[in-house]
Amino acid sequence: MSADPKTAQTMRALRKPARGVHALVLERVPTPRPRPGWVVLDVRLAGICGTDLHIVADEFASWPPVTLGHEFTGTIRELGDGVAGWTVGQRVVCEPHSLACGRCHLCRRGLAHLCSEKRSPGWGIDGGFAEQVTVPADLLHRVPETVDDVAAGLVEPLSIVITAFERTPVPPGGTVLVLGPGPIGILAALTATAVGAGQVVLVGRPSSAGRLALAADLGVEVWDSSRCDVPDTAYARTGGRGMDLVVETSGAAEAIAEGIGALRRQGRMCVLGVPGPEPIRVPWGLAMNRAADIAFSLSSSWSSWDAALALLARGAFDPRPLASVFALTEWEQAFAATRTRAVVKAMLDPTDNTTPSKAVTPVAPPT
Ligand SMILES: [Zn+2]
Ligand SMILES: [Zn+2]
Repeated sequence: MSADPKTAQTMRALRKPARGVHALVLERVPTPRPRPGWVVLDVRLAGICGTDLHIVADEFASWPPVTLGHEFTGTIRELGDGVAGWTVGQRVVCEPHSLACGRCHLCRRGLAHLCSEKRSPGWGIDGGFAEQVTVPADLLHRVPETVDDVAAGLVEPLSIVITAFERTPVPPGGTVLVLGPGPIGILAALTATAVGAGQVVLVGRPSSAGRLALAADLGVEVWDSSRCDVPDTAYARTGGRGMDLVVETSGAAEAIAEGIGALRRQGRMCVLGVPGPEPIRVPWGLAMNRAADIAFSLSSSWSSWDAALALLARGAFDPRPLASVFALTEWEQAFAATRTRAVVKAMLDPTDNTTPSKAVTPVAPPT
């Protein structure tokens, strides 16, 4: 049981204790107080992301001791001095772009999400794998009534997808190939369909068979890349033209090469997949042959958050089948399921509303 939320002076938080490779620790820490311009949220749900696995492995910069969790939704519990336009009890999501400087050339272009001084909840400052989190009020977005908590918990990855489509728009009636059936890939396929693509295909490997099956259940056309030549099939399925837009979410060399091969001439490729530390061989000559436009997209723009909430509010698609909710106390199970791809998107619930294990719907047996 958690302490009485009205009087609690401490709370449970899942933390990285020190620099280096360390097991996370679920421990009691003081509840946060809001500084001027910030708010404190009661966390409702917080998603586990591939980045969290990299933070645990010390492959992604972090400032421990720090509470993990950068994808969360909750309700406003307390307002700091000077916060206007928000009230206690409102349901919100929060851009993770805290401590962006506001003065650099990127911030001044409206690209605070790319500011080198930004320190996000979950790696730079304490994040959402806790009962409460404190964040700047100007990074909040209000969750509409019609968007429930699980859908709201998916707004951060959906914003990542929409930011990519701000760079490389989905061609109305056009053809879109998405590589990699993780949460970002499935959300990209659902979004491309919802915003007017003519044909959308999601490609994955047999190791992600469960995720491909889930995407197929949601109405997405899926290809197993071990069973077809992806570029040949893409050309065959588009009357010999090739794909208008390829969205690369896997970070894998083989998939990147397949994506370039599948492009039509002067087609566009948007890269979201984070590769490993080793350099990747890219078929540069093939990209030249395709006269390809290749863009890379990092993080999420301010405008993408309201766009994500607007899509969900109008019921453009239902992302909730992607989520499997675990109690915060089951964090080890949730991280293991993320690591083995047994679920698409694990979410932690620090409120104890989730019956342990009952809400878990694995999409594939752990491998
Ligand atoms: Zn993330
Ligand atoms: Zn800046």
